[in-house]
Order: sequence, then structure tokens, then C-alpha cells
Amino acid sequence: MRTLVYGLGESGIAAVRALIERGEEEQVIVADSNDSPRLRETVRDLGVEGRLEADSLILEEGFDRVVTSPLVRPQNPVLVAARERNIEVLSEVALGLELLSGERADMKIVGVTGTNGKTTVVDMLRGILTAAGVPHVVAGNSWRALTGCLDEVREAGLLVLELSSFQLHYLPEPGFDVAALLNVRPDHLNWHTSLEEYATDKLRVFEGQDPEDLALVSANDKVGRDAVKNLTAETLVVGEGETLVEGGRLLVRNRPLVGVEELPFAGPHNYENALFAAAAAERVGVKVEAVWKGLLGYEVKPHRMRVVAERSGVKYVDDSKATNPASVAAALASFEEPVDLILGGSEKGTDFTEVLPLIEHCRVIVCQGEAGPRIYEFLEERGVGIDVFLYLEKDLAAAVARARKVAHRGDVVLLSPGCASFDQFAGYAERGMAFAGLVTAKDETTEDLSRRNGARSKWRGAGR
Ligand code: ADP
Repeated sequence: MRTLVYGLGESGIAAVRALIERGEEEQVIVADSNDSPRLRETVRDLGVEGRLEADSLILEEGFDRVVTSPLVRPQNPVLVAARERNIEVLSEVALGLELLSGERADMKIVGVTGTNGKTTVVDMLRGILTAAGVPHVVAGNSWRALTGCLDEVREAGLLVLELSSFQLHYLPEPGFDVAALLNVRPDHLNWHTSLEEYATDKLRVFEGQDPEDLALVSANDKVGRDAVKNLTAETLVVGEGETLVEGGRLLVRNRPLVGVEELPFAGPHNYENALFAAAAAERVGVKVEAVWKGLLGYEVKPHRMRVVAERSGVKYVDDSKATNPASVAAALASFEEPVDLILGGSEKGTDFTEVLPLIEHCRVIVCQGEAGPRIYEFLEERGVGIDVFLYLEKDLAAAVARARKVAHRGDVVLLSPGCASFDQFAGYAERGMAFAGLVTAKDETTEDLSRRNGARSKWRGAGR
């Protein structure tokens, strides 16, 4: 079987190593559309044949399958040509599952996908399994590449996989013991051709399940709810029936877990995440007591609704990982205090309509970055400036300075940008760290601010 591994990032490298371990080094060729000294060194280190600056002509060398990285879009000429030639295209995760297929009867696999909350649910499940002393391996999307830890998976016998839609796009019939679809909201429409295609890819998480497997969807998510009638596995709708928050407590299959007041994290979306994690944990054999112990000890990962400072009675919250409007809406729904919201970042033409019903939580909104002017215009057009103080600033530094200046005692200053960070930063983590630094930096004067960026600011009416 001749394999082309296309895309020499972390997952491509792990895939090549896994194939070499299987003794297939003669059958593997690696390729990348770029060329650089680092890529050349990578190919040399791997010790297999490599083609850099590769285009679709590479397929003339004759391959049985192409293993691709999540960063390569389906419209990429090599992948288009592979489809035209009927060559199978697999994601790195799909290759990993194939390499485990002989041992699937001896292991359980939990697959988690969704637009928002994947990492949190997987991390909560990891916390529960660790508290319960259950051996497991976590891999996929924001974790390690699956093909890089196959032996550990075999040994643990339990794999928790975080899956992006990119990984699911080329993942046929995964047949997970537990499959969770948290939600589907508009995002990544620069990778997928349409929202329908994005939703179809997300639903692949349920493909290949049997009646004895478990499917989890959310009562708040239309795509998941609509899918229920077509699911083969036993299905739990999280948020209704026996698995929900009721009377201030989390219930899983009618068994009370913990009171939401006791949990070390806040927000209705995080309670729902906890229910998904708890239902999955229960299904792989964790006792209820260990589930609540795990949740009580859970600390939300950085840049997801983390309080980074409290100054002069104002709380500063870093939610830099909120890169789409649905996650901004979830953040706003989590606060009782008036919110001074910082929105904006790189421009991908995102529609912020989903945030509008939650705007009543805001006292101030500061738009910033590349997408700032468009979001500002949108909010103005929708009449948001009547009740909320609206500001437009050039960048995050100016936006934080503005927020610090206008925040009242008792407010929450929330960075929940609803946009990616690449207009000013290398990623959401760098943006979140910059925010934490800026909120504790020495005070700027109004003159500093206006000299630096000639801010436009505007408010109408009395505000709230
Ligand atoms: P993902 O791995 O899917 O990107 P994360 O757990 O990293 O998700 O969270 C990303 C952003 O989405 C954060 O701002 C977080 O607060 C928010 N979020 C987490 N869970 C949910 C949810 N269930 N619904 C909406 N937003 C969520």
C-alpha cells in the first residue's frame, strides 16, 4: 500500500513515524506545498522520500491513499486531484484509528466534536478519569496527534479524542463507543464550502456506531436534535429528560451529581460541558462519586473565561479563545454583573447577529482590530448604541486602555473577541497573555490614548 503523507506539520510527521514503525518506510512518500530549510531537515530526519513544493503532479507517482493534515483544505489541488483519481484521502486521525482497528475490541474510544467546548469537555473528562484513577489517553485536535501515541492507547485501553470538523471530513465510519456532538454554529466557513457541509462533517462523529454505543447531543443545538431520529446508538439529549441542570444541580440519568454553586467554574455553557463529560465518563465505567470529585477539582483552561485580575472593584476576564459569536454569547450569558466587552480581531466576515440578544448584559462595547470598524458599524446599525456605550479603537492595547478608563466598580471587563487573533498576534494564547499584561500595566492617560490611535468613540442616550 503506497501512502502519500501530504502536509508536514505535527500530525503529518506523527503519521509518517507510525507508518515507519509498521515497517512501511519503503511505501511512504512525504510531501508539502512549501519548501524551507526546516522542512528539508524534517524530511531528512524522517528518513523517507520527500517532495517539497509538491503540486498535483505528485499523484502521477501512483498512490493508494493520501493522508492529509487538518490545515490542508479540501479545495487544495492535490486533494482535488486525488478525488478525481479515486484515491482514498484520510485524515491523520483516520489513519490512527485504522492502525488500531485490529485491537478495537479491547478498547473504548470516546469522540468529542462541536463548534465550541471540545477542549473543555475533553479536559473535564480527562480530569474525571484522572480523579477516578482510570488509565486513558487524550489525543486529537488541540492535544497530541493520535498516530504519535498508539502504543499508549493500546496499553491504556481507553482513548478520548477531540475532533475538529477538518479531521472528521476525512474520517470514514469511526464507530465510537461514545460520540458527542456539543453544538454546531457558523465557524470555519473559509475551510468548508458551506454551513451544510460543516454540519455534515460534524455529524460524521456518529457514523459507524452500533445500538450498544452511546450518542450525546445537546437540547440547545438544532443540528444535534434534528439528527437524533437517524442515530443508531442509544442517544442522550443533554439538557432535557434525565440529564440536565435542575434545581441548581447537575443530574446525569437522574442521578444527582453536584450543585452548580459548588463548581469551580461558571456559566450555563460550562454546566452543559460538565454534563457531556459526566455522561461520557459514566458510560466508560466511572462511578458517580468519582465524577463529582473530578468536576469539583476541575480548573478551566487558560483563555477560556479566566479571571486574570481584579483592580479597583473591576474584574478582568480573559476569554481570548472565543473566536466566534456563539462563544461570545455563551460568555455574556455567564455574568450577572454589567459587562464591558472587547470585541474584534482578524476579519473573516463573521455575522454577529447571534450576539445581539445577549447585548443587554453589556454596559460598554469596545470594538478593535482589523474587524473592529465593521463590527462597530454593524452594532450601530442595529441600534446597539442607544443603550450601550460603543467605542472603536485601533488595537487591543487601545481597547484595554479604553475599557480600563470607562469601567465602573462592579463591572466585568471581558475580552471575548468573537474573532481570530491573527491581525495582531500569533494565536489566541498570545492575545490572552497580552490582555493580562495590559490590564495590569501602568495607567495610560487620555492624551496617550488619543495620540496613539485617534480613537472614534460614541455613545447615545444615557447608557445603563
Ligand atoms: P473548542 O475546543 O471547541 O474551541 P474550547 O473549550 O476551547 O472549545 O472553548 C472555546 C470558547 O468557547 C471559549 O471562549 C469557551 O468559553 C467557549 N465555550 C466553551 N464551551 C462552550 C459551549 N458549550 N457553548 C458555547 N461556547 C462555549
